[in-house]
Amino acid sequence: MEIIPVDDHITAIDHNLLNIPGAGVSYVVRGDDVAIIETGTSLTVEHTLAGLDELGISRDAVGHIICTHIHMDHVGGAGYLAAVMPRASVYIHSMTAEHLVEPSKLMSSVRRAVGEIAWPLHGDIKPIERERLRPAEDLCLDLGKDVLLEALPTPGHSPDHVAFWDRRSGGLFIGDGASLTHTRYQLDFPVTPPPAYDLEQHLNTVKMLRQQDIGRFYVTHAGPRDDVSHILQLTEEMLRSLAEIAQDALAKGQDEDTHALAARWLPCAEDDDENRKFLARNLGDLSVRGMLRYLKKRQS
Ligand SMILES: [Zn+2]
Repeated sequence: MEIIPVDDHITAIDHNLLNIPGAGVSYVVRGDDVAIIETGTSLTVEHTLAGLDELGISRDAVGHIICTHIHMDHVGGAGYLAAVMPRASVYIHSMTAEHLVEPSKLMSSVRRAVGEIAWPLHGDIKPIERERLRPAEDLCLDLGKDVLLEALPTPGHSPDHVAFWDRRSGGLFIGDGASLTHTRYQLDFPVTPPPAYDLEQHLNTVKMLRQQDIGRFYVTHAGPRDDVSHILQLTEEMLRSLAEIAQDALAKGQDEDTHALAARWLPCAEDDDENRKFLARNLGDLSVRGMLRYLKKRQS
């Protein structure tokens, strides 16, 4: 666990997602009330709680647990955090909220998507009482002390993806809506996972984001980035290159070896750091499979 100071009212807690430092954070936003944005998985909760302890924030102080979308590395910790934070409401898009009330379908879908090797790293989901859930797409939250959070729907990576403005800093909690930026491992790329990835929506979201005045991105994987237009440019280029690789493989009937296709998109060197290789190979493969599925769906 590592505390990363971000702003006067925002702190990131690196919660060691997938047992990899620098792979994922939860953001703590403080006005008079406290919000946590992104919850990691059930396996990262102990690190997030240790971070809150270090920041001197009690469990009772947290009023809001906010998730950008229904993927396990964003909502897996929500039920466990909510269980020890009696005041907190949990925010998720209404189209996927039911998965947090009854998580078994979501868990089997994630297991299929990430594969048997990565699955144990994703933990499980503790169900949340329906009364505690709020629609993330409608979020407009005044935390006091001029700290205002507001929803900005950003579908594509997943249909339910919502980003959140921090009006005080002019920054945007972007979730996985643009690229992951594993700065520590020199990896910047968008993830396009099955089963619900939608390239057309994602490109529209990137176009919409380009028209906004965004001071910085608070990226979930992982940390703040000031080079917003560079990230958006890169996201679009990487999406187009992945779509081209996937399209070409489909046309030639060579879409079976998704690992090989991923290696074309996100090359690794033999002497690369083990964590870098793990992230590039696993998320690359996941992205290839999501893009192939999207293209096949469009064809049929
Ligand atoms: Zn995601």
